[in-house]
Amino acid sequence: MKVYVSVDMEGCAGIVHREQTDPKGFDYELGRSAMVLEANAAVQGAFDAGASEVVVSDSHGGNGMRNMRLADLDPRAQLITGSPRPLGQIDGLDDSFGALLLVGYHTRHGRAGVLSHTTNGQAVANLTVDGRIVGEIGLNARVAASLGVPTMLVTGDDLTTAEAAHDCPDAELVIVKWALGRYAARCLHPTLACEAIRRGAAAGVARASGVTPEAPGAPVEIRLQFKETGSAESAARQLGATLVDDDAVAFEAASMVEAYAAYSLAVESWQPAWGAWIKG
Ligand SMILES: [Zn+2]
Repeated sequence: MKVYVSVDMEGCAGIVHREQTDPKGFDYELGRSAMVLEANAAVQGAFDAGASEVVVSDSHGGNGMRNMRLADLDPRAQLITGSPRPLGQIDGLDDSFGALLLVGYHTRHGRAGVLSHTTNGQAVANLTVDGRIVGEIGLNARVAASLGVPTMLVTGDDLTTAEAAHDCPDAELVIVKWALGRYAARCLHPTLACEAIRRGAAAGVARASGVTPEAPGAPVEIRLQFKETGSAESAARQLGATLVDDDAVAFEAASMVEAYAAYSLAVESWQPAWGAWIKG
């Protein structure tokens, strides 16, 4: 079975502040190290459970999705790095994969939890898919489900795993830290966090072949509320999305993959100067 491991940074053990997640932050080295440690734990777990091939995605937008050093990755895995990518944090995922694992993830915009946000913390308030507000976990899980790939592991803080329980009912949930606020947490030591991730990945991959994810219906309805009204005006003007509120647009897409592409464009359209694709 081919396994796809998407690794973000905000949900890794020890990470609580932008100084650790932003390449200009004084503690950024801590963040990028935590990512690859937890990625390798998931890779090990996937192979423990019989994976034939593991692809890892560097899915943190802080450095243009170029945070993990390739040489530090388990040599059995391949790394997707850099941006832009049409499918963002799960680019390259297709129906040849048997499981998606989300490592180091975080809660959505507007919810408690360490460093909560939805894809681009500067632009996006709420993203709604078919009437339900989702964050990065829900968005990625729905795109994966539309390709027939179940999400079998989500790791992060305790509030992130609670969010994931709704979005990914089949996933193993691994808590590596307990949120004490948006910028504070009680954390497992990396050794214990990685051991829990390895076990969770193995358990998830072992069950994956028996899981059929519930695919979203078609067409898909997206509603995107921005942090600024100008963003909604721009998305409506440039993409033909319908302005449904002063700060929100809505549009319909034929599939979840097309919905994702349109969402990415809408996020970017308002301020291209922000550069590479959506953030993680
Ligand atoms: Zn991130």
